[in-house]
Order: sequence, then structure tokens, then C-alpha cells
Amino acid sequence: MRNPRTPTASPEIERLIELLAKLPGMGPRSARRAALYLLKKREALMEPLGIALTQAAAHVKTCSTCGALDAADPCALCTAQSRDDGLICVVADVADVWALERAGAFRGRYHVLGGLLSALDGIRPEDLRIGKLVERAARPGVREVILALTATVDGQATGHYITEQLSPTGIAVTRLSHGVPVGGELEMLDDGTLFAALQSRRPL
Ligand SMILES: [Zn+2]
Repeated sequence: MRNPRTPTASPEIERLIELLAKLPGMGPRSARRAALYLLKKREALMEPLGIALTQAAAHVKTCSTCGALDAADPCALCTAQSRDDGLICVVADVADVWALERAGAFRGRYHVLGGLLSALDGIRPEDLRIGKLVERAARPGVREVILALTATVDGQATGHYITEQLSPTGIAVTRLSHGVPVGGELEMLDDGTLFAALQSRRPL
């Protein structure tokens, strides 16, 4: 029996709607609308999108050094000669790397944690790429670790934990300064605000 909410949809369309509904910000209603739009724009959008999805799934991987996404491992950000090896900017998510790169404010290296510590969601230090960060920070030539984390409870808890872990290395740990709203997502900031927050970073 077919789903009573989409009585006229074929199994192919139902599958498409079911998968689209799993995307962030999508519910069953918007998924149905998106599916219909794709089916109407088959040549202009649906087919190129299908190819792009297949290619990204086949080629994009997580950089084993910094945790960013790229077709190469290590990624382009880790291998770029022009970037400063002495600075490591720590972010929660790959989207934050993209935001900082769009702002063009940072020319060092990145480290993506893959989330934030959260007692509520049961996210522990070993679930994040913190061990790898400590390892990287201990390498010769590293001068400063910049915590570009949100000003939420989880962001602050994560920052404190990392600072403790890095204290034996004696390395300078700074965090983004003014401009980052409490509870704000880094990627929602405009480029100028992000630039200012990075320039005016301060010690913890
Ligand atoms: Zn990388």
C-alpha cells in the first residue's frame, strides 16, 4: 500500500521525497516540493545534480590532517605553500572553514573538530579530533592555536578542554574576540565581522 500522504507518487518519486526529507531544514512538505521541482527541471537541474552527487560521493574525502573536505588527502588547505604553518585555527565544522575562507581573514592552517563537546548530546572528547590537534600543535614551528568556536556553552566547554590539553605544550591559545554573538553560528557571520573577530583575537 502506498503512503496515504503521497497517494499518486510512484515508488521512484516516493524514494526521492524520502531521501530529500532527510536533508537539514527539509520536512516532508518541502521535500515533495523539491522533488516536483527537480522532476520539472530534469535536464537543467536533476541530471547535473545526480552527476554532481555521484562525483562528490566518489571523490570527496575527509583530510586526514585537518578534517576538512577535499578531493585530495591531505587537502589543498594543508598543502598550500603560501599558508603559515605556525598558526592553527580550530573550528567545529567544515562549514566554518568555508566561512573563514570566504572572509579571506586567515592564512594559517585549520583543524576541524567535527563538532563540540556536549553533555546533553553525549559528545565526548574522544568523539572529536582533539587528540590529533594536540599532536599537530606539538610539532616544531607551531606558535599559536586560535579557537574559532561559537560562544555557546558547548563552544566554551570545548575551548576550555582544548586549552587544558594544550597547556603542557606551552603554546599560545587565543580565541576570537568581539563580533561573535553569544550562541551565534560562525558561518552566519558576515565576512567583515568574521575578519574583525579574527584580527582582534585574544588570549584565553
Ligand atoms: Zn587538510
